[in-house]
Amino acid sequence: MSIKTNLENVKKSLPKEVALVAVSKTKPNGAILEAYQAGHRKFGENKIQEMTQKWEALPKDIEWHMIGHVQRNKVKYMAPFVSLVHGVDSLKLLQEIDKQAKKHNRAIDCLFQIHIAEEESKFGLGEDELDEIVSSQEFKILGNIKIVGVMGMATYTTDEVQVRKEFAFLKSIFDRLQEILPNINILSMGMSGDYFLAIEEGSNMVRIGSSIFGPRNQV
Ligand SMILES: *Cc1c(COP(=O)(O)O)cnc(C)c1O
Repeated sequence: MSIKTNLENVKKSLPKEVALVAVSKTKPNGAILEAYQAGHRKFGENKIQEMTQKWEALPKDIEWHMIGHVQRNKVKYMAPFVSLVHGVDSLKLLQEIDKQAKKHNRAIDCLFQIHIAEEESKFGLGEDELDEIVSSQEFKILGNIKIVGVMGMATYTTDEVQVRKEFAFLKSIFDRLQEILPNINILSMGMSGDYFLAIEEGSNMVRIGSSIFGPRNQV
């Protein structure tokens, strides 16, 4: 099936209020253009260098989402153009994003990545760490970042009960953050394998790669 058909099928399966980030990591510019020509504008990448090269080569009205783990020394490359950083997992990273955004006279939208999976390997903040950041003076003075929500990845398992529980936990953090901070409106959860569950648990932004672009060789 073509990328256009896959994209249309995925879109048809989403409620209107759920935003779709088409995850194009490892895929060539031609694949992104196919989705672009079908009218799609939000794309997600997990490596800053790759995203920057694609941004340079592709139409400028694409919204680039950084969905991967962010290395602080590379923030400067995406600062001019990134639309949303999903993977903020430390105050230091947030301070660097703020600093680089300031150089470009802009504010960068960010999500706190929360650790919700059982697996140790997945990145993200614990609830206590999140609270510590949000209540700190260092956080409050940042003028060039805007926290607009949270992101999380569930455990890679066929155990639906487990996955649902993790998504519900992230939703509860999202709800609580909404009480504490202004502008909290994005709950980024759900990938090709689990987005139906994520949406049932309250997701309003899904990040879908392989169901649109086909399987990847590398991750
Ligand atoms: C790769 C990736 C996705 C998309 O995964 P698929 O299973 O291909 O849909 C979503 N979120 C993050 C953070 C990713 O790294």
